[in-house]
Amino acid sequence: ERPLLLTPGPTIVHRSVREAMAGPQLSHDSPEFLRILGELPDMVRRVVRSDSSGVALVTGSGTLGVEMALSAALSRSDRALVLESGYFGNRLADIARRYAGSVDVLSAPPGRLVPAEEYRAALESGKYRAVALTHVDTSTGLLWPLEDLARAARDAGSILVVDGVSSVGGARMEMDGLGVGILVTSSQKCMAAPPGIAITAVARDVLEQLREPASLYMDLRKWVEVTESPGKYLSTPAVNVFVALHRALEMVLEEGMEARWARHEGNAAFLREEMSKRGMRVVAENPSPTVGVFDVGEAGLDAVELRGRIYESDGIWIGVGVQSNRRRHVRIGHMGNVSREHLELFLDALDRAAGGRT
Ligand code: PMP
Repeated sequence: ERPLLLTPGPTIVHRSVREAMAGPQLSHDSPEFLRILGELPDMVRRVVRSDSSGVALVTGSGTLGVEMALSAALSRSDRALVLESGYFGNRLADIARRYAGSVDVLSAPPGRLVPAEEYRAALESGKYRAVALTHVDTSTGLLWPLEDLARAARDAGSILVVDGVSSVGGARMEMDGLGVGILVTSSQKCMAAPPGIAITAVARDVLEQLREPASLYMDLRKWVEVTESPGKYLSTPAVNVFVALHRALEMVLEEGMEARWARHEGNAAFLREEMSKRGMRVVAENPSPTVGVFDVGEAGLDAVELRGRIYESDGIWIGVGVQSNRRRHVRIGHMGNVSREHLELFLDALDRAAGGRT
């Protein structure tokens, strides 16, 4: 099927998920829709491995979810710490500055982790109401191991806010086990639904501590109340996308989280091995199972041209680098429904497009 989407979101949407959207238009207060809405929060909790968190499903994209999380965690009297080493981490700091009194940023070069000693020392100062980071920075494909950071945040009494937009549903996530305070993701990534829903889970103890933001539409606490009690109204949801997300989550849960995480790991490792044979180095220090970012510049190739050639010949659409790396990096999404066979098709197309230059 064309186009074959191997971008880091939106990603391939299964036919049955697309068909779920194509029925008669439902009203947001119809019994059919309220049944679907009633099941969604538990489905999300199973995906993120949480028994008791409150779930908010809000019409909008991942950015809305991240912004809602930070505006609920922080007010002008609060300080925040952001760990970043790429475009989305950087943007997290930008968003935090719009809500916090002050924001300290610990940076590492793109694709590298901030050393544990650095964030531990910063957190131990006890100054921060919240610490925020991207679980997978989609610009570099870096996966941030959360265990140690989550422990340090807990010891310091800081709320851990995780942008899991490019990880949740594809990379292992144990929200309760880790002690994540607020976890954000989005429908169009590893859940393999269409774009349009910001998905947020808030730990029970954090729910009680949330700030009330100036914006009504972005009030996370209100959205958790509304999402957890179908029939309550705050604004009209994108009904059709919610129906699609429900079908997509059924498929995620049918596969099972352990199997799904293992499948993502296996596919990611396969792609890294194949790319490295072609002289294309993975950029991230700790590569994500959901998105692979590779340096094609070293192999003498231009990412934008390569993408164009692969699309024209095979109908496969991949991501290119972010900002100054636009022509140097390719970004391959292997999340959701992407299979080993899809990656083999890509590699075959890549070899033809590179024309013996690898
Ligand atoms: N955070 C990360 C890590 C992302 O990859 C993205 C989207 N690529 C976003 C946030 C923003 O999500 P959206 O584009 O759905 O607003």
